[in-house]
Amino acid sequence: MINELKEKYEQLFSNKPDVVVRAPGRINLIGEHTDYNDGFVLPAAINKAIYIAVGKRKDQEVRLYSMDFKTSYSTDLHSLVPIKSWATYITGVVAQILKAGGNINGFNLVMFGDVPLGAGLSSSAAVECSVAFAINELYNLGYTKMELVQFSQRAEHEFAGVKCGLMDQFASIFGKKNHVVKLDCRSLDYEYFPLNMTDVSIVLMDTGVKHSLASSEYNTRRLQCEEGIAAIQKKYPAVQKLRDATYEMLNEMVDVESAVYKRCLYVITEIERVQKACIDLQQNRIEAFGKKMYATHDGLSELYEVSCPELDFLVNEVRDDSAILGARMMGGGFGGCTINLIKSNDVDAVLNRVGLAYQKAFNKSLLSYTVNIEEGASFA
Ligand code: ADP
Ligand code: MG
Repeated sequence: MINELKEKYEQLFSNKPDVVVRAPGRINLIGEHTDYNDGFVLPAAINKAIYIAVGKRKDQEVRLYSMDFKTSYSTDLHSLVPIKSWATYITGVVAQILKAGGNINGFNLVMFGDVPLGAGLSSSAAVECSVAFAINELYNLGYTKMELVQFSQRAEHEFAGVKCGLMDQFASIFGKKNHVVKLDCRSLDYEYFPLNMTDVSIVLMDTGVKHSLASSEYNTRRLQCEEGIAAIQKKYPAVQKLRDATYEMLNEMVDVESAVYKRCLYVITEIERVQKACIDLQQNRIEAFGKKMYATHDGLSELYEVSCPELDFLVNEVRDDSAILGARMMGGGFGGCTINLIKSNDVDAVLNRVGLAYQKAFNKSLLSYTVNIEEGASFA
């Protein structure tokens, strides 16, 4: 496909691209709804990616072509505005580079990818990161990796209108083959942990649904966390985020019967769980790690209440099967994928069994993706 990408570029622009880049989608092993509470997440880059071929122009034109959508888009470098199109994820990053004072001319770009769209693997972050990485190289701008991550995140905020945390773009740029990255969402310190999983595969099962509740409930959860902090701060003013709170503070300051209590209990537990899960990885205890994934799912479903019948069904179908070491819903909730650690020899049998059951229960076929953990953004 890289050859087809280069050929398409040559066909459209009559010369060879200056750089060809890939930036991957991501998974998150554990640590859900912890980012905006200043906690930890544990993402990894995967072997599904966006690929772009890019070349300099002498003028101020930006010429884009999507091989997947088979459409082109052109604009002037200095009149970039958010639009409802795949192009916004590209121009959004360019706008951030310009805002930061990056000295660039126009460019030509051709793109294709195999990150499933809207399945929770962050195809949008992969697009943004590929562009940040490529333009940085093309015009020799010298931005650090973290700056590229931040340009990409701000593009998502300002041009896609999604107020995401830093994780997706961070994973796409900083990913490392066969490792997960523990990111401290407060300090932005990070640490790699090896994922030595011989004979275990990472399999995503896609519910194929995205319930409309997702964004309003997301906002409500964020507010409930803030309510919990406000209550705790009355006696413990040093608590800035749930990262700083303890079970004792929560029990003392928040009504145990309230929804806010359940939300905070989940978050405090999850932040602690990610740290313990990293110790499991260091000691190569994949089974203990997998059990924590189930515990995360239960917390998200029962305490944080961001699951949905389809996600619960997929996790409950595998819970008592010894071929699956761990499973949980992944992402913000109300749809998207579950992430499963499955003994490699059993993957086909599990997918057949769960696929049939899912079809019967929801009258929908089950899509699945088996992924490997790969390097973050790189030259292709
Ligand atoms: P995700 O969870 O995959 O990030 P989003 O809705 O945030 O879902 O982003 C999906 C959008 O990203 C698509 O609608 C499209 O605009 C853009 N995108 C993703 N992959 C591609 C691609 N291969 N080519 C062009 N645009 C893409
Ligand atoms: Mg996205």
